[in-house]
Amino acid sequence: MKIAIVGAGPAGLCAGRHCLKENFSVDIFEQTGLIGGTWNYVACTGYDEDGIPVHSSMYKDLKANLPKQLMSYEDLPYKVYQESYISQEQVLDYIKTYSKKFRLEDHVKFFKRVVNVEPQGNTWLIEFEDVRNNRREVQFYDAVMICNGHYKDAIIPEISGICSFQGDISHSCHYRTHEIYKGKRVLIIGAGTSGCDISGKISSVADKVYVSCKSKPFFPLPDSACEKPLVKEIDGNTAVFTDGTSAKIDAILYCTGYRYSFPFLSKKCGINVTDKNVHPLYKQIISIEHPTLAFIGVPLLTCYFPLFDIQARFFLSTLNGHYKLPSKEEILQRLNHPVASKPSRPLTKYHVLGEATADYFEKLATEANIKRIPPVISKLFIYVMMRRCVNERFRIIDDERWEKL
Ligand code: FAD
Repeated sequence: MKIAIVGAGPAGLCAGRHCLKENFSVDIFEQTGLIGGTWNYVACTGYDEDGIPVHSSMYKDLKANLPKQLMSYEDLPYKVYQESYISQEQVLDYIKTYSKKFRLEDHVKFFKRVVNVEPQGNTWLIEFEDVRNNRREVQFYDAVMICNGHYKDAIIPEISGICSFQGDISHSCHYRTHEIYKGKRVLIIGAGTSGCDISGKISSVADKVYVSCKSKPFFPLPDSACEKPLVKEIDGNTAVFTDGTSAKIDAILYCTGYRYSFPFLSKKCGINVTDKNVHPLYKQIISIEHPTLAFIGVPLLTCYFPLFDIQARFFLSTLNGHYKLPSKEEILQRLNHPVASKPSRPLTKYHVLGEATADYFEKLATEANIKRIPPVISKLFIYVMMRRCVNERFRIIDDERWEKL
């Protein structure tokens, strides 16, 4: 079998590793000249100096928000770093080591952006473009694994009066360093992982930081930041909040998250994509319409590296004949799926795993009779999620605690 993988980030490399382990032939299409996806820090945004699109939303001095134990693939432990929460460079170094160990780069087609994925009979047409000269080519595969990441396409909510604002407006996908906010009054909109983490960095140099939150901040905000409710309107350089308070501001940074985006999927793939939902997928992985098409890494709020491992193995077990998928009708009947009659959760939260991570991992392993993700991984994940909610210094505290253990 010949398998095409879209993207050489952590998910695509992991998918490649498992394909090779199963003796499938594999091509990994990567639009940039780099492996590691998001984990590459690129100082510019948009296009780099060679006109190559910048994929990564990574910012300077980022420390992972999960301990390294939750950011490891199953067949490569981390080097013995003293600290648990390691830096972007250390994560990238790990991904490169993984790629080298399993000779994955030999299979990467660099600077090749996939522009069309289309089912044709029992095969898949993959059309790709060389981003350096726009030349297009077509190749055919037996199966496709989509690993293009979902921290790239910004969601920017509409705010009344935003056009009257004369200051700097940006989104976290373009945020690189806090220095540009020195001495400014900054409004951060959104208090998810990025909003909370970035507010800590900007607070160290800004005159004032306001964080507008829809609900409880993901991590506690730094003491110097001022928590605010939703923005009602922007009037010139004044932000008016829904509680009637207002603040003078010089810059706005949207930390309002990302949308799923698969611009290369032909309509014939039968995949419906909204900002927060991709369906119909079996187990959030396999296309129900075309079971030789898989998506690796769609779930949110989970430990991604173990997720990539088990999702890739689950899909490949259907290709190598070890596990037979239920029929389309059966799947639609028994799934808590958007196309089934009663989804159990709102569609916008459908892919958010959180505490359900353990259950999700277990069900994949049991159903396909594949190796489990050790339960300690999901236990540690729940522990970390709880710590992150209550203490902004969670990284330091956990390091100290684990050192004692
Ligand atoms: P990506 O890393 O985004 O890689 C996707 C790859 O696909 C890229 O190389 C891209 O160029 C390529 N690609 C896209 N479209 C095409 C195309 N059409 N053709 C060819 N190639 C294409 N996760 C954690 O576990 N811990 C953390 O602490 C953490 N912190 C984060 C901080 C930030 C600021 C961000 C943005 C994300 C963070 N994440 C974190 C999540 C992170 O995205 C995942 O860890 C991981 O990088 C996802 O891997 P991926 O391969 O799915 O996607």
